[in-house]
Amino acid sequence: MNRKVKPTIKWFLDVCLHFFYPDFCQVCRKNRASHELSYVCLGCRSEITKVQEPLCGICGTPFDGEITTKFECGNCRSFEFSFDQARSAVRAEGVLLEILHRYKYEKAHWFEPLLVDLLVKGIRKTPNATLWDWVVPVPLHGLKLREREFNQAERLAVSLSDNFGISVKNKLLIRVKDTESQTRLTKKERKSNVSGAFLVPLEVSVIGRNILLIDDVFTTGSTTDECAKALKSAGAGYVDVWTVARGV
Ligand SMILES: [Zn+2]
Ligand SMILES: [Zn+2]
Repeated sequence: MNRKVKPTIKWFLDVCLHFFYPDFCQVCRKNRASHELSYVCLGCRSEITKVQEPLCGICGTPFDGEITTKFECGNCRSFEFSFDQARSAVRAEGVLLEILHRYKYEKAHWFEPLLVDLLVKGIRKTPNATLWDWVVPVPLHGLKLREREFNQAERLAVSLSDNFGISVKNKLLIRVKDTESQTRLTKKERKSNVSGAFLVPLEVSVIGRNILLIDDVFTTGSTTDECAKALKSAGAGYVDVWTVARGV
């Protein structure tokens, strides 16, 4: 193709694209925000709050106070999680909650690079970042997958795998129970809802493998804990959980 023609075609395609998808923030719908910004303007981004120390050493719940030593929250003192530690990048509130909801239930995939970026920046700060053997997404049940057409945890895990050079294993853990949504359940109900929901297929070996388990949101930790339980029962080494957001 003639070199002079190429930019013209690109310009024409850009104009068409901008006609159908103008460069506006898809959250506030007021400010400009390009594809490179995942269509979230700087103003809306500034409302996303990072999860910061001090945190419970195990479940990663943030504590609003002045603690400089390692500590365990009341929940972790009374209940033993199967994962070794859980951490999240940002708080599940406001703008971020809307973005996650639309990404997950309305297929607003243009938000995905922002979610991946938050996760990658959070994970880079952890000392274990290069010690995992595999990245494993929290699986969806087959029926839910057909309904939703994609598993958000799997998409995030694939992007992390590209960023950290760690293999993603999305068949390592399967969801054998089509559980009801955890959103409106109490902590106790969430736990029994996901009990026995996951297993590692017999033909798969996870013995001694250190796993980075990925999900979009950590609320009570019931789902990721149940996944970690299945992985540990099958012989996994340590299981660390990372989620984009933390319900606090
Ligand atoms: Zn905005
Ligand atoms: Zn805790």
